[in-house]
This record gives sequence, structure tokens and C-alpha cells, in this order.
Amino acid sequence: MKWLQHLKTITQHKIKVTWLCFRCHLFKQGLLHDLSKYSYIELKTGFKYYQGYRSPIDAEKEEKGYSLGWLHHKGRNKHHWEYWLDFGKDGIYPCQMPVNYVIEMFCDRVAASMIYQKEKYTDSSALDYYIQGRDKILIHPNTDALIFSLLTYLSKNGLDKTIEHIKKEVKQ
Ligand SMILES: [Zn+2]
Repeated sequence: MKWLQHLKTITQHKIKVTWLCFRCHLFKQGLLHDLSKYSYIELKTGFKYYQGYRSPIDAEKEEKGYSLGWLHHKGRNKHHWEYWLDFGKDGIYPCQMPVNYVIEMFCDRVAASMIYQKEKYTDSSALDYYIQGRDKILIHPNTDALIFSLLTYLSKNGLDKTIEHIKKEVKQ
């Protein structure tokens, strides 16, 4: 019943992100978050490569070298830094992400850390994970500074205070 497990995982994740976005007063983004995961092409990856301990996308990439499900996903979901890569006269460059999508990325990363780490989750989990991959991603310096500051704020002050900070001082 891999397909059912996959549906359960993505729905659990979506509910958590939607709730966090609502708490940050991002209502439309909360509702629309990751909806494309329910499209045929993304479900196909999920159903076929579901493993339970990591993303089916990683499993598909390992086998085929690419994942059509992921390419579909990152091309439609503005909370991923990969969405914001473009090509110009100097080559590939990262565009600066609008603030509200950085906040959605924050909610996404916190929810994913909670779901993957379960009882091991702490307020530093999402920051630790970001630091691990930070030097390997292509992200605009201002976007990097904002997501880093939000995750650092969370690790120092906890979720409730971070959400207050986002609503009062960050959100546009
Ligand atoms: Zn997503």
C-alpha cells in the first residue's frame, strides 16, 4: 500500500504547513501550498518510489538521473529557491525571492523537520538542516540572509515568538 502511505505523508505535511502559514497570516499561500503534489505527474513519482524514510523524489533521481515529478513541482511552487533560478548574460543566477515566499519556505522547512525528526525535533532542527546544505545551493544573498535569520530566530526564541516576529516585523 505504498500509494496510500505516500498520500498520508504528503497530506500530513500539507496540513502542517497550511497551519503554520495561517499562523503567519498567509492564508492563500497556506491553502495553495504544495497542491501540485496531487497532480498526476507528481503522484506517479510518489506512488512508484515511496520508501518512507526519505523523499521519493531522491529515489527517482538516483535511479533515472532526474525526476519529472520534481521538475514539475519546482517549476510551480514559488516557496522553493529552485523556482527562482534564471539565465542571463552572465549565466545562471538566483533572483531575490519575495518575502512572503521566504516565509512559506520557513513554514515548509519547519514542518518537514517536525515530520522527519518526530520526537528528536528541536527548535534548532530546521536551522541545522539549512546550514548543512547552505554552501551547495544557489540562492540570492538577501533571500539566504532572510531565511537564515528566521531559522536562527526560531532556534533562539521558539516557534510562538518567531511567528509574532514574522507577523509584526517581516511579513509584507
Ligand atoms: Zn513544495
